[in-house]
Amino acid sequence: MASEIFERDRHVTFLQMMYQLLPSPYQSQEINRLTLAYFVISGLDLLAAPDRLVDKEAVAKWVLSLQAHPRSQSELNNGQFYGFYGSRSAQFPSEDNDNGALLSRSVGNLASTYCAVAILKIIGYDLSSIDSESILTSMRNLQQSDGSFMPIHTGAETDLRFIYCAVAICHMLGNWSGMDKEKAKAYIINCQSYDGGFGLTPGSESHGGATYCSVTSLRLMGFIEEDILSKDAESSIINVPLLLDWCLQKQAADGGFQGRPNKPSDTCYAFWIGSVLKVLGGHKFIDKKALHGFLLTCQSEYGGFSKFPGDFPDLYHSYYGFTAFSLLEEPGLKPLCVELGMSAIAAIGI
Ligand SMILES: [Zn+2]
Repeated sequence: MASEIFERDRHVTFLQMMYQLLPSPYQSQEINRLTLAYFVISGLDLLAAPDRLVDKEAVAKWVLSLQAHPRSQSELNNGQFYGFYGSRSAQFPSEDNDNGALLSRSVGNLASTYCAVAILKIIGYDLSSIDSESILTSMRNLQQSDGSFMPIHTGAETDLRFIYCAVAICHMLGNWSGMDKEKAKAYIINCQSYDGGFGLTPGSESHGGATYCSVTSLRLMGFIEEDILSKDAESSIINVPLLLDWCLQKQAADGGFQGRPNKPSDTCYAFWIGSVLKVLGGHKFIDKKALHGFLLTCQSEYGGFSKFPGDFPDLYHSYYGFTAFSLLEEPGLKPLCVELGMSAIAAIGI
């Protein structure tokens, strides 16, 4: 039977279990281990779990070991990205099964690098001591002439998600030399659709995740103000009233948020779209009671959250379930920095 309350202690146990499995070098099949580690470590932080549950020194050592370093200063401009690998296995050249070609060298990618820097920030590691010059200098090679970013140095699609990763990395490192902000801004503005939401690329359908990446990127770069609704929304570089409408229409009859019209409500959009509303200052228009009720139907009796009511929990939806409850000001959860997707205290760096 579904619980009527947010089961904080069960969620801590759920994450603790995940944490114990994570830093093991024997489970390197999963290429997105840094992303999974980010969910676990940031989740424990958001849930205000006891400090002793995370061995910060071991985590920092593991994360730092995943950074790609150039062999020489001149290599920094060879077009490769010297960020973080997703996991140990991604550090080695791999056989491409489709054509048997051996990739010359595997590379770091923007999403893993965002997660790596976020983890280090959350555990309070001194970010000024990491090799940020290699990250930022080589990251410039990933930005395209239209302002978008590729996640790796070659043969990948570009879209808003990777602009967000680049923006968040620069913001956390306190150094914007890794990107051209004006070009990124122009690309993002082009992604706002006729209905007010944002698509992943100019002209594509509005989507909750893309809308989150757009609005938080603009906010982190300083192009839009906080609580824009109470200020001069008219003069904003984006169409704020239309965006507000689009966001509010995504709260469905069951109380949850959908990522696109006519899709079922899904736990994670309570964070993606809830965060946009928070930045705009429109969070007060959410039917909080109904959202609270929907989210509880996705809470697993073993801890964690599922995508849809009654499904098995997964780490991704668990994490965004916690962030959604933090946005609802649930007691026992730390307040959230929606722009960085971590606790406000971790974001400030105390
Ligand atoms: Zn989802």
